[in-house]
Amino acid sequence: MHLARFPRVHLAHLPTPLERMDRLSEALDGPEIWIKRDDCTGLSTGGNKTRKLEFLMAEAQVEGADLVMTQGATQSNHARQTAAFAARLGMDCHILLEDRTGYKDENYNHNGNVLLDVLHGATYETRNAGLDMNAEMESVAENFRKQGKRVYTIPGGGSNTTGALGYANCALELVGQANDRGLVIDHIVHATGSTGTQAGLVTGLKALNANIPVMGISVRAAKEAQEENVFKLASATADVLGCPGVVSAQDIAANSDYVGEGYGLPTEAGIDAIRMFAKFEGLLLDPVYSSKGAAGLIDLIRKGHYKKGERVVFLHTGGSVSLFGYLNALSA
Ligand SMILES: *Cc1c(COP(=O)(O)O)cnc(C)c1O
Repeated sequence: MHLARFPRVHLAHLPTPLERMDRLSEALDGPEIWIKRDDCTGLSTGGNKTRKLEFLMAEAQVEGADLVMTQGATQSNHARQTAAFAARLGMDCHILLEDRTGYKDENYNHNGNVLLDVLHGATYETRNAGLDMNAEMESVAENFRKQGKRVYTIPGGGSNTTGALGYANCALELVGQANDRGLVIDHIVHATGSTGTQAGLVTGLKALNANIPVMGISVRAAKEAQEENVFKLASATADVLGCPGVVSAQDIAANSDYVGEGYGLPTEAGIDAIRMFAKFEGLLLDPVYSSKGAAGLIDLIRKGHYKKGERVVFLHTGGSVSLFGYLNALSA
């Protein structure tokens, strides 16, 4: 794989740090836990969407777009990072936000990511839950096109083969860091939602023949559905990268035991993980994604799935801005 062949806007702060979490490792008395700081990618507080947007927004530029559209949940980190990227490139940005939680709370609806969407100059409209949001977005995009706008639409989470290239790039970067330090990585764990992160990461790791298993902790879909969706996107990404068939179904592992009541609804284990990372490591997780990923990591360590003597990398996908959209769940 040779990523320089793909259009890219280089603005992420890369490489992101790879750090050892000494105090958390000690507290859990299991494997050595490392953290890959993709919360530090450097666009409007960072997060995993920046890597995807480097490739997506480059495609938007190639197509001559003047308006970028995307969609997500009310507290979407992807929407916020897209709004910031568009601002940086001088493009307009319009977002569709889906009310997946039904929260009437002022902070949920206007603070956190929503506040930043507006600060970055994006406009947005809302939708009730349960619609085909990509179809909604395409119909709004058609109206803009009739008015003469050149619209580039990005699917939810930036998860298509173009966006997934950003995580193939992360695989290259992480394996390079591990090689430079003589660090053998036994496992990678991260939160998985719209699948682009895991699909790109696994495809990159397989293309490098790195032999590092990845566990996606689902924030929404059931295990089987999530694995199938990740596999589909990983296979398509492998085709784009010129290594068709490099990913097989056994390479994709998801765990949906930490979703709780549903997407965007904080769990007790997730809130505990937020407090542990904050108190032991001075690190901020978020209530929707990284806290559920970390809850999975912590529980799987406690159950002995990840053991003493092993080295586990937790990929921190960002999202801490949404803490301010979830003050209700956190103040106690
Ligand atoms: C979007 C997001 C994820 C999930 O990544 P996908 O590529 O959608 O699977 C995880 N963590 C955070 C903070 C996110 O914003």
